[in-house]
Amino acid sequence: MKHPLVHPFNKLIRFQVLQHAELGKKLEQIASDSQGKVKVDVAGYSNRNREIYKATVGTGDKVVLIQSEIHGNEKTGTDAILNILKFLGTNSPEAEKIRKDITLVALPKMNPDAAELNRRGNDMTWAEVVEQFPQIAGANPSWNYTYKMNHSIMSPNLVSMSIVTLILI
Ligand SMILES: [Zn+2]
Repeated sequence: MKHPLVHPFNKLIRFQVLQHAELGKKLEQIASDSQGKVKVDVAGYSNRNREIYKATVGTGDKVVLIQSEIHGNEKTGTDAILNILKFLGTNSPEAEKIRKDITLVALPKMNPDAAELNRRGNDMTWAEVVEQFPQIAGANPSWNYTYKMNHSIMSPNLVSMSIVTLILI
């Protein structure tokens, strides 16, 4: 689905917000269109058992890692990564040159649990954190742990941060 966002300079920006289930299909499509140049894999699973997808393209010695949506409400980088993967899977001479120069490893949705909830932080209760890390039993959650649990709306600052991420990519 397309979501319009208002840019800080009042320019209307449109980008695709991909749900987790759609992302897997999109990546498979990109891999198949690339005829083997882009490889898609599952790097691991989230706290709520969602796949954390990994796409690899290129054969260069220099390995470049890019990721998006480590904060689940910063979504524009995911779209940018899919566009990069699509391009690098083509037969264009520029794409071929980049594939020779680098091996790109992309994690397009690093935090699928938070992304699905459209919020910044992870989907993990404090009790679950303590269960996994018993050495912190008795400690209080840090200020930002409780903060992020209560903030799910994409603020104008986060929108501009996402746009900066997109430009940097
Ligand atoms: Zn962030």
